[in-house]
Amino acid sequence: MIHKHDVIIVGAGLAGLRAAVELADKADIAVLSKVFPTRSHSGAAQGGIAAALGNEEEDHIEWHIFDTVKGSDYLGDQDAIEMMINEAPEVIYELEHMGVPFSRTRDGRIAQRQFGGHTRPIIGPDGKETRVAIQRACYAADRTGHVILHTLYEQCVKHKVHFYSEFYVMSLIIKDDICRGVVAFDLKTGEVHTFHAKAVMFGTGGYGRAWKITSNAYSNTGDGVAIAFRAGIPLEDMEFVQFHPTGLWKLGILVTEGARGEGGYLRNRYGERFMQKYAPTVMELAPRDLVTRSITTEILEGRGIDGKDYVHLDLTHVGEATLKERLPEIIGFAKTYVGVDPVKAPIPIQPTAHYSMGGIPTSLYGEVLLDEKGKILTGFYAAGECACVSVHGANRLGTNSLLDAVVHGRRTGKQIAKFLQTAEFSDLPVNADEDVKKRIDELFNSTDSKESYHKIKDTLRENMMVKAGVFRNEKDLKEMKDIILDLRHRYKNVGLRDKSKNFNTELMEVLELGNLLEFSDVIVEGAIARQECRGAHWRTDFPKRDDQNWMKHTFAFRTEKGIELRYKPVTVTKYQPQERKY
Ligand SMILES: Cc1cc2nc3c(=O)[nH]c(=O)nc-3n(C[C@H](O)[C@H](O)[C@H](O)COP(=O)(O)OP(=O)(O)OC[C@H]3O[C@@H](n4cnc5c(N)ncnc54)[C@H](O)[C@@H]3O)c2cc1C
Repeated sequence: MIHKHDVIIVGAGLAGLRAAVELADKADIAVLSKVFPTRSHSGAAQGGIAAALGNEEEDHIEWHIFDTVKGSDYLGDQDAIEMMINEAPEVIYELEHMGVPFSRTRDGRIAQRQFGGHTRPIIGPDGKETRVAIQRACYAADRTGHVILHTLYEQCVKHKVHFYSEFYVMSLIIKDDICRGVVAFDLKTGEVHTFHAKAVMFGTGGYGRAWKITSNAYSNTGDGVAIAFRAGIPLEDMEFVQFHPTGLWKLGILVTEGARGEGGYLRNRYGERFMQKYAPTVMELAPRDLVTRSITTEILEGRGIDGKDYVHLDLTHVGEATLKERLPEIIGFAKTYVGVDPVKAPIPIQPTAHYSMGGIPTSLYGEVLLDEKGKILTGFYAAGECACVSVHGANRLGTNSLLDAVVHGRRTGKQIAKFLQTAEFSDLPVNADEDVKKRIDELFNSTDSKESYHKIKDTLRENMMVKAGVFRNEKDLKEMKDIILDLRHRYKNVGLRDKSKNFNTELMEVLELGNLLEFSDVIVEGAIARQECRGAHWRTDFPKRDDQNWMKHTFAFRTEKGIELRYKPVTVTKYQPQERKY
């Protein structure tokens, strides 16, 4: 079946829906999502969305820009960061006017809380300038992503955006460097559909599911980046994956940084607030890479609780009333999943794979790049977590990614609208859906599966945790590369046990696994090459940041001979790299 729309947006998270709202009255658009739109991972975002509104205390756009550049460990492109932060207040007020029910200050303005790495300058006791935490994260209790996602969805419904829910996209249709559509299958029926469009946008989200302990939804399998890579598009900075400091022990379910923003302490087995050692000025509100390494170091050196692989997040001093008002979900999660009431007892936590800084390279306007020199692929756009602009560089600050998704969703929508003024439908190649049909038939016709996809997935996720996680070294990474090679080999023998056409989730999971393997390889390749420590990429065998050789973006290309790495300089406008201390 062939469908024709001016624009196809793949992904119904904040990036996809914000672009859809922008385009709804200007073109015939359709949004495809493998989950029901409001189940997109954006809805799980808890803590907040950053903007220098200054509602609680003095704040400035420039302070937010500086924090983001420094937080990125000087890998973020400063022109992109400036554009995003400058637009932040405007997009927040727009969301407010669309109906997002933000929490409020006493005088009725949007309430803001502290978050890691967001600071303001003060003069310290020694007369020198130092920086302390600032209240910059706009929030709606600990359901910020949920309320924004629902508001944007309502706006889409109001503007009659066409949704294809539970459609799983498998490939891009690209010919002569022009993107012409996508091929997907309908989960409900198993039927393959071709979508013909003038422009395609990916807002397909992140890829934390490649690690065993992750805060990410089941759907965050990096399909978009893998599909783009297979279609000949490079991937940028994939080695930078953020581990959030506070996941529930063993489960990885997120406890928002807002919990530390509201005053939570991290303690080791001796009850010590160990962040004193690692970030004496901002303590628990240091950026995530630093807090995660601090927790991991405590655990590795035997100071986890009872010597185990977790520490405590202590909220007991914050007070029941504040916790119930500002962190209701966290109280619920802790009670339900680990049997702890945070009002009375500390929560057991460990770092959890959380956010993908890298992804599909784009221009400042969401146009997808074909190489490190900036060649643009006509008609293909990306925004949100699947894209790399790059505004987060080597480490994202909390609350900057909802902002990224909304700002770039909006800006990409505007850019597509401009493109549509002159764009025509390019012809669909004959048999555009042939490869997808072949792959699905192959799986349906498979006789007994010789390999279990569960086992392959578990092996990948367990090993990525240990060998391509918080601390890395060449030996482990090379072993990981071999493991992936072996798993990719075994993956070829995976078949389906469930042969039904309707809602065949096994089929989807097998295809997702193919994507996990595809991009994990890119992550590991980039990580082996990058012989330095920067942001979330920490090499114990190269324990320093090396600006001379490595202040550059990785571009990974898929070639006949394997992955080829090339590099692109970082754009610096105002801030020369400094040592990163907190
Ligand atoms: C638990 C958690 C809490 C977070 N809290 C915060 C926070 O407080 N503040 C903050 O700034 N950031 C937070 N983040 C990060 C932030 O939520 C995400 O980076 C952001 O929401 C991503 O939005 P997105 O639109 O790019 O993608 P997503 O919201 O992940 O949406 C991806 C969409 O793509 C679709 N899709 C993917 N693959 C396919 C396919 N093959 N076919 C069809 N559809 C497909 C999915 O169905 C989905 O609709 C949090 C993340 C997590 C996991």
